[in-house]
Amino acid sequence: MNKKIQVIQSSIPEMDEYINEIKDIWDSKWLTNNGIKHQKLELELSKYLNADNVILFNNGHMALYTVLKALDLKGEVITTPFTFASTTHAIVQNGLTPVFCDINEEDYTIDVDKIEKLITDKTCAIIPVHVYGFPCNVKKITEIAKKHNLKVIYDSAHAFGVKINDEHISNYGDASMFSFHATKVFNTIEGGAIACNDNKIVEKLNLLKNFGITDPESVVDIGMNCKMNEFSAAMGLCNLRHINGEILKRKKIVEKYIENLKDISGIKLPNYKNDITYNYAYMPVVFDESVLGVNRDDIFDELANNNIFARKYFFPLIQDFECYRNQYSSDDTPFAKKIANRILTLPLYADLDIKDVDNICNIIKNKINNK
Ligand SMILES: *Cc1c(COP(=O)(O)O)cnc(C)c1O
Repeated sequence: MNKKIQVIQSSIPEMDEYINEIKDIWDSKWLTNNGIKHQKLELELSKYLNADNVILFNNGHMALYTVLKALDLKGEVITTPFTFASTTHAIVQNGLTPVFCDINEEDYTIDVDKIEKLITDKTCAIIPVHVYGFPCNVKKITEIAKKHNLKVIYDSAHAFGVKINDEHISNYGDASMFSFHATKVFNTIEGGAIACNDNKIVEKLNLLKNFGITDPESVVDIGMNCKMNEFSAAMGLCNLRHINGEILKRKKIVEKYIENLKDISGIKLPNYKNDITYNYAYMPVVFDESVLGVNRDDIFDELANNNIFARKYFFPLIQDFECYRNQYSSDDTPFAKKIANRILTLPLYADLDIKDVDNICNIIKNKINNK
């Protein structure tokens, strides 16, 4: 195929809709610092996510960094290595020590049966990741956290709009971080948020995201600058109007992938459960070479030869990054290591053509059949 297909394509509104949304910025000349669009988006998002408070940030990473700072944590934090660099970086940047827990075989989220063994008298929090938008075992995590008096902050970067038994994912733990990066299901170009039901933390987040300033002559905390600007908030207001339709389109594409690939033994597809409302953020597929005779890299290369760019997401594991490998070993989390070596996220975005999904699947099938 000559057409280039990337793993994602950002959702954006019609140009006229965005222009209409930003017009009044030319009247107000109010570009950032809790502007009208910012206020409106926080309100709309708290309605959409059914959260008491949604606090906007300039990106998801700074949201996570700041909420850890606001909670004033010290010591060790249990998390997983099967995630984006941001999760671990935010922990380390707060002077905390990440302790890596393995993931489970079912949905690649933290293995809740392995958490307690990692708890020491220094453990202060758990930062699980709703990876690919698949919810962690929030019930078990809540139990463990209560028993050991630990904070729980979810990396929900992938999980915008996901619900468990009709309950929004943002209502679990002490706080949830969402990323609104251009590549995510819901975007504000760059952006992020914390959803949180504790007013004390909310107050602290609002302070820390604007230098710790309370009024022009009073600075009460050593804060950062991680405010969302009005143009990003305006993009968010537009994209939020279309989010349900975009997720529905993603669902159709995922169903097409499953229809095409479900009967191939050696290919593991996500197992969607009835009590979860998914957002279809990613299409992760695990390739077992011992059954297929070809491995993940062979499939990746074959797709690339056809101008289709899947992603080895997440590979390598965090412990294998140059900045962490002196202190950690990915051998300590064997299942995460196995999955990282076998997984590929296939192209998935709302406007991906269903015919292209068939083509992608045929290329994969042909590679397996002609090995
Ligand atoms: C995207 C992402 C982040 C960081 O979000 P940004 O908005 O890009 O800063 C954090 N964690 C995970 C798992 C992500 O995918």
